[in-house]
Amino acid sequence: MSLDPELLQILVCPNDRGEVEYREDERVIVCRSCGYRYPVRDGIPVMLIDEAEKPTGRRKR
Ligand SMILES: [Zn+2]
Repeated sequence: MSLDPELLQILVCPNDRGEVEYREDERVIVCRSCGYRYPVRDGIPVMLIDEAEKPTGRRKR
């Protein structure tokens, strides 16, 4: 499933407002600066810090 490129352009990381990129093979949105990974469910990016997978090392819950 691909995402609308225009939608991707307006998406920013809610954690640090960083640029994000879509990894189609993993179906996640990854922030280029902090590395948070946001799930894409049914083609809808879930841009919520609570839903994000944090980079390894310091994981909350
Ligand atoms: Zn970020």
